[in-house]
Amino acid sequence: MNKQKSDGAIATRSVHNARDPSIQNGMVNTPVYHASTIIHDTVNDLENAKLNINTKDALIYGRLGTPTTFAFENSVADLEGGYGALAVSSGLAAITTAIMAFVRSGDHILVANSVYYPTRHFCDYSLQRVGVDVTYYDPSIGDSISTLFQENTRLIFMESPGSNTFIVQDVPAIAEVAAASNIVTILDNSWASPIFFRPLEHGVNVCVVAATKYLSGHSDTMLGVIIADESHYPAVRNCRDEYGQCVGPDDLYLGLRGIRTLATRMQQHDRSGRAIAQWLSQQPGVLRVLHPALPDSIGHEIWKRDFDGASGLFGFELESRSRDAAVSMLEGMRYFAMGFSWGGFESLLIPVDSSGGRKSVDWSSDRRLFRIHVGLEDVSDLIADLESGLQRYFDCNSI
Ligand SMILES: *Cc1c(COP(=O)(O)O)cnc(C)c1O
Repeated sequence: MNKQKSDGAIATRSVHNARDPSIQNGMVNTPVYHASTIIHDTVNDLENAKLNINTKDALIYGRLGTPTTFAFENSVADLEGGYGALAVSSGLAAITTAIMAFVRSGDHILVANSVYYPTRHFCDYSLQRVGVDVTYYDPSIGDSISTLFQENTRLIFMESPGSNTFIVQDVPAIAEVAAASNIVTILDNSWASPIFFRPLEHGVNVCVVAATKYLSGHSDTMLGVIIADESHYPAVRNCRDEYGQCVGPDDLYLGLRGIRTLATRMQQHDRSGRAIAQWLSQQPGVLRVLHPALPDSIGHEIWKRDFDGASGLFGFELESRSRDAAVSMLEGMRYFAMGFSWGGFESLLIPVDSSGGRKSVDWSSDRRLFRIHVGLEDVSDLIADLESGLQRYFDCNSI
């Protein structure tokens, strides 16, 4: 009997879905299958394997997936409410593979100007090179995005909330006008994870997630996943397979292991993140806190309408001080480390370029933007750490 369970609330499903102890000697977790060759016993099976090349969960060849791959993919597809999911080697690979599945030379695409910088870089270089025209749009545009549609507009790329700005997009409005014009919609859902937002429920066709971040959740794996509705799954599947995208079984296992605690971790990131955002917004010298759950953040009402919570990643702006002041704050932090990425159990704090690019920080501007990831430490320890950090920042007299 197949004992895979995919009913109940999302936290319950994240614990029970895509595993079946009864077919693996009673063991709770899906095993890590290291495989390239998969033996087919009969000529019939061999021929069928080839015919099934695009079928979900078909055991054909290691690159096309093993039971470890399928468990990860099916778990994510269930949580995101998709027809199917496809594992790829990183979050960025999920973005580029999903875009390439739908565009051809001569097409025009619309990309939110608040996207993760490497997404933008891919659009400006690789897409440009193959003759795909890109227009960046204001993430707050809503259904007026239709004024940017051209005859050859093929795809809209969203990221909500956007990197560094944390502006929340009106996803259902954009998805609706896109569908009416036969334009494919893709959304980067890395920030919220499926625990707090499920883009496909709001009309988006394809969702991409950097599983490197919250899904795996322990800062120890690179992993991406693309989730699609039924009509867009085949195109993504073909593209993933044509590019030879696949993931090693240990990373898939870490992704799946992360999912089992995802709901609990997200709830804690949410609680601590909001407490720290609130606290920061009351400190002198803090100009703005960019957190979707705060009423004055851009897109807050939309966030309240569409999301079930907020993750631990947000931004805050401080009154301008010298580079030395920032160095003194950052290098003296006890728990907040400096590093790219986020979504692990640990807290991070870095200065970022407020123009949204990945240029180095402009230390001459009149405000300093910082990006904080609130981890799973006790929140009072984190606040104490930030309190002395701000003190170092504002006490630093050097110019
Ligand atoms: C980190 C990140 C990615 C890319 O994920 P990798 O696994 O590092 O390639 C994509 N989108 C967003 C919003 C991210 O923050």
